[in-house]
Amino acid sequence: MAEKKPTVLVIDDEEAMRDSCSLILARGGYAPVTAENGEVGLEKIRELKPEIALIDLKMPGISGFEVLEKTKDIDPQLIPIVITGYATVDSAVEAMKKGAYDFLPKPFAPEELRLIISRALERRRLAMEAETLRREKKLMEDNFITMVTHQLRSPLVAIQQYFEVILAGLAGQVDKTQQEMILRARERLDNLLGLINDWLDLARIDRGQIVDKLKPVALDNLLKKQVEFLAPLAKEYEVSLELKPAKGPVLGDEQMLDQAFSNIITNAIKYNKPKGSVTISMHHENSFIVVKVEDTGIGIAREHLPFIFDQFYRVSRREDQKIKGTGLGLSIAKKIVEAHNGSIEVESEPGQGSTFSVRLPRSEDETK
Ligand code: ATP
Ligand code: MG
Repeated sequence: MAEKKPTVLVIDDEEAMRDSCSLILARGGYAPVTAENGEVGLEKIRELKPEIALIDLKMPGISGFEVLEKTKDIDPQLIPIVITGYATVDSAVEAMKKGAYDFLPKPFAPEELRLIISRALERRRLAMEAETLRREKKLMEDNFITMVTHQLRSPLVAIQQYFEVILAGLAGQVDKTQQEMILRARERLDNLLGLINDWLDLARIDRGQIVDKLKPVALDNLLKKQVEFLAPLAKEYEVSLELKPAKGPVLGDEQMLDQAFSNIITNAIKYNKPKGSVTISMHHENSFIVVKVEDTGIGIAREHLPFIFDQFYRVSRREDQKIKGTGLGLSIAKKIVEAHNGSIEVESEPGQGSTFSVRLPRSEDETK
């Protein structure tokens, strides 16, 4: 089967120009189509989906620039090339800025036209190849996430449930040694599941799966619940936990924001000192709400600060070695906040404490 000839659309008000281009293109092995003005041109782009469009910049009716702009919406894969009667640098530059692949000053030799067309086709081929690869990669990532969820996570959850059943004595008498072993096994399992869940969250955030479901979220309520939820942990670390709330609806995904703040507040408790404190405050700043999580803990040395938001980064110091963690908490928090068009900052003084500031865009809906 012969390969389909690439279609090249010539949009020019001059009949002589259309005819000569058509002739050159047909001889070069292309399928030429013509349009006598911008409107007809756009119509033909819609209908025929040509690979390339040659667009005269100066035409009566809608101008070549307008045609150029509109082609992007109709067919982003189309490669537009402009023809300039008056070969001014300005108009050519303007056209390139508006998305033209190249420009052809009048008058041009047949060879010039064919060369520019073959280059444009090559570029289109590469762009389409890249697009196919991108799609394949996305599909693979999707499958990978599903694989991790089902093949890895599900059996672990099942094992966890069996342990619960055994520990509850529902499978018969469990002696002390057995119970200790199962408790240890369960702890290792919990850590592994935590890691897998973190990793899944990161993968979801990376793929922009949270941004499309943003709703007004009452941050003060969310933080209140966090403080209640983390009170036992604070007690264990002998740290006081205080919230100074302000009315704050932000546009967000409640579950994700919950996780981001949980990670930051948990750190403030874990990397604290006995009798220390954690203070969470909120204030408005222009169109943002800023949440500050301030602790009186061990602090972070200046040389570590640039890295603490990196995946798996943990500050290695004596105090930290006792505290369990994978180094994912802050990287997840940062990704979540950034996916909300917000930002996160840290100030810290070793031995004195740290303050994490989270800035999130406010929601218009003030009723929340
Ligand atoms: P996890 O994944 O369980 O949260 P983690 O707490 O080690 O593990 P991150 O929350 O990402 O990981 O924090 C990275 C590192 O930054 C921590 O290991 C700790 O050394 C340091 N860090 C984070 N928050 C604080 C804080 N409030 N005070 C002092 N050091 C901190
Ligand atoms: Mg942490």
